[in-house]
Amino acid sequence: MAARILDGRRVADQILAEVAAGARRLESEHGVRPGIAVILVGDDPASQVYVANKERTATALGFLSRKLVLPASTTQEALLSLLGELNRERAIHGILVQSPLPRHIDERAVVLAIDPAKDVDGFHPLNVGKLLIGERDGFLPCTPWGVVELLARSGFDPAGRHAVIVGRSNIVGKPLAALLMQKAPGADATVTVCHSRTHDLAAHTQRADLLIAALGRPRAITAEMVKPGAVVVDVGINRVPDPAAKGGQRLVGDVDFAAVAEVASAITPVPGGVGPMTIAMLMRNTLRAARRAAGLPADEAP
Ligand code: NDP
Repeated sequence: MAARILDGRRVADQILAEVAAGARRLESEHGVRPGIAVILVGDDPASQVYVANKERTATALGFLSRKLVLPASTTQEALLSLLGELNRERAIHGILVQSPLPRHIDERAVVLAIDPAKDVDGFHPLNVGKLLIGERDGFLPCTPWGVVELLARSGFDPAGRHAVIVGRSNIVGKPLAALLMQKAPGADATVTVCHSRTHDLAAHTQRADLLIAALGRPRAITAEMVKPGAVVVDVGINRVPDPAAKGGQRLVGDVDFAAVAEVASAITPVPGGVGPMTIAMLMRNTLRAARRAAGLPADEAP
């Protein structure tokens, strides 16, 4: 294998250690303990795992962590009313509603019901707008922020490089494009965004210095689609059948890892790449929300 592995777990652990130290300082100096509420509606197995990971990580950091599991039959009205209560609760600084939600609940109404000051997922239009215009006092969405942070801490500067993102969802592709195109350290890339209507996808991906796969298709990015020496970030999390694995399934990314690792200069693994970074950035956002609630700037001075 030629490519260097970009170890998201190691970098995420570094960030979590910083967040834990920041949380201890906030509590000892200002008497505020960061608090997060994570809401799961229904019993989607993957969501259960994500929510459990978030709760475990928050607890390990010394945060107040509240997991609220609601039945799939929960009405939109009941969920919005719960969000209203959490918006008012002083001990809770960050609120996250795990997606996907049952079909009868409008995700957009849910996003709008969360106080932007507690929107640690960074999905509220106010925070999305701040990201786009380059204001750093809002909340960045955790997965795109995790990608940018992983690159920065791995010594890869996107400035002036051609970044090609495959996927244009509101939670990954679009905000990542907005982040990488900012006139700012860790960004300044020239960005191309591809999607399901893109003609000749490979012609675009082959021109990428930085290729980010966020299309939700197992191993769709093959070695022929990658420019030799490119840095490849795999956001995808797909469950594929594997009779040899526990539970008969295993996780793979959107990139054909083994083959692409022969061509790329650096690559993120799945699992152990972007996934752990996403949780680390969620915890950092929760600390930032708690600092703001204490009347402090969201970020500590370096
Ligand atoms: P969505 O399904 O919302 O979006 C997928 C995007 O990929 C769409 O823009 C779609 O295009 C595009 N696309 C789909 N198929 C193709 C194709 N064949 N060629 C080109 N573009 C294509 O997915 P998400 O953004 O929510 O997630 C993407 C992946 O990232 C998933 O595997 C998901 O599990 C994973 N993920 C991982 C996270 C982490 O923490 N690591 C967090 C969030 C997601 P169009 O817009 O035209 O439909």
